Amino acid sequence: MPAGAELDYILKQQILTDEELLTLLTQVFIPLGFRKFRLTGGEPLLRPGVVDLVRSIASLPETEDLAMSTNGFLLAEMAQALYNAGLRRLNISLDSLNADTFAQIVGNGAHNLWQKTWMGIQTAHQVGFDPLKLNVVVIPGVNDHEVEDLAALTLNRNWHVRFIEFMPIGNSDLFSQKTWIPSAQLRQLIRQKWGLLESKVKGNGPADVFQIPGAKGTIGFISQMSECFCDRCNRLRLSADGWLRPCLLNETGQIELKTLLRQGMALAEIREKVRKLREIKPEINYKNRESGTKTGNYQRTMSQIGG
Ligand code: SF4
Repeated sequence: MPAGAELDYILKQQILTDEELLTLLTQVFIPLGFRKFRLTGGEPLLRPGVVDLVRSIASLPETEDLAMSTNGFLLAEMAQALYNAGLRRLNISLDSLNADTFAQIVGNGAHNLWQKTWMGIQTAHQVGFDPLKLNVVVIPGVNDHEVEDLAALTLNRNWHVRFIEFMPIGNSDLFSQKTWIPSAQLRQLIRQKWGLLESKVKGNGPADVFQIPGAKGTIGFISQMSECFCDRCNRLRLSADGWLRPCLLNETGQIELKTLLRQGMALAEIREKVRKLREIKPEINYKNRESGTKTGNYQRTMSQIGG
């Protein structure tokens, strides 16, 4: 078998096919009332045929919102096709404006990745993605000295820069000595330099949104460490290989939909399992948050599960 086809074959075994994903959306999630969808990590742009998948989800009559979180490496080539397929909302990771720091955080040592991401952001902007959200995970001693420079990106552009408190899930080896910086401290830093107002523009995500006076864009703060927003969280995450996870921090409560689907379980039965999981989610948010793994170590990093 040629290498490409072999890879395709392996991928098909391990990840949900487009057909399976659309079956789950139309027969399980939409009938349960899900209307807002986000394609997220690993890295959605690496998925073969992702533009067609975007088109299929965007054209479902029930879809009220379709967004994507990406590292942006492939965005310069794909932004136009994604836009044409119906995607309108993009979150792009931009943890640094410095290529070396960026490479350190991304962790694979490739020094042209910052340029690729930056080109991707520029292209997405030109193509018309609006809002364009840039996500910055603030890691003390690594990129916290760039907070003002990153905030300054909002001055002349309608971009939404969102500072996220670092959650060391699955990354403890990489940043074992580092902890997190409370959003309140970052707000104070920005306030001292320019002033900071609460923004009239509110997102539909977990960020508290602010604005530098006179700026075109906004600044958001996602403060899951200092200001737990679990009580507002209503998201379920379906991984590419078919696991439905009730909370980022919970591996013990997840169910594997791919195998159920492939074993021919009736869709009504799968729907019932998902309904039950959604029903107990608020309880998992609170009670199981501290005990979401069997071993104390998460199998997957935040970026692999779309955090
Ligand atoms: S910890 Fe779980 S419940 Fe809390 S915000 Fe994150 S995903 Fe939602």
